[in-house]
Amino acid sequence: MKINRKGGLFIISAPSGSGKSTVIHRVMEQVQNLSFSVSYTTREPRAGETPGKDYFFVSETEFEQMIQAGEFLEHARVFGKFSYGTSRKQVESLLKQGRDVIMDIDVQGALQLMKRQDTPHTSIFIIPPDAAELKRRLENRNREGKKEILNRLKTAGKEIQALASFDYLVVNDGLNQAVDEVKRIILAQRLKINRVKNIEQITELFQMEDIDD
Ligand code: ADP
Ligand code: 5GP
Repeated sequence: MKINRKGGLFIISAPSGSGKSTVIHRVMEQVQNLSFSVSYTTREPRAGETPGKDYFFVSETEFEQMIQAGEFLEHARVFGKFSYGTSRKQVESLLKQGRDVIMDIDVQGALQLMKRQDTPHTSIFIIPPDAAELKRRLENRNREGKKEILNRLKTAGKEIQALASFDYLVVNDGLNQAVDEVKRIILAQRLKINRVKNIEQITELFQMEDIDD
């Protein structure tokens, strides 16, 4: 008997530097039938990023047109600089195919999505073990300058206020454990009854009228 399941949406959010991209990357390698929601952004690609795989890179004008056309499930201006948005069409198409979708979005965007009644989801907040480690990770990543790191740490202090709105909390201390915890959340959600499409067909299988004694 084949169990047909609907796809589910997994919102992963965290203060910058917590390790969410690292965790998501590992989870994607280890969990089948899981697609990454490729966001649209107005920032420039970084070295090593592939358009269409990491992000769809668009101009401010294109992004504004997409907002007006209602093409985003959520969108936000992140760290006061660039805009980021989740494509409604992409996510809906993946879910329709029965795939699970994982998204890496900032806390403002996560809160917007979590308020929507039309988009069932599971939300996971990732934090590092403490603030000093967050600072260390941002510094060691060596991607932002001192001023921008300070901006991200200040933002982290605000973002943590949203913690109680999420379904799950994962502490990314040991990477393997954090990856394992996110995997377990995804796999457990898959077993939920409300994800099963062919409930009637399954119950039918166990009708006993035709059984001989
Ligand atoms: P985010 O996507 O949340 O901004 P990243 O995935 O870029 O964070 O991780 C920030 C930095 O912390 C990176 O240099 C990454 O290699 C490192 N990192 C991620 N997880 C851990 C961990 N569990 N222990 C130590 N360093 C980590
Ligand atoms: P980066 O520019 O470092 O790739 O991402 C910066 C921030 O933007 C990260 O916190 C990331 O989670 C967030 N982000 C990426 N895509 C989206 C999106 O589609 N929507 C929102 N709201 N945030 C996003």
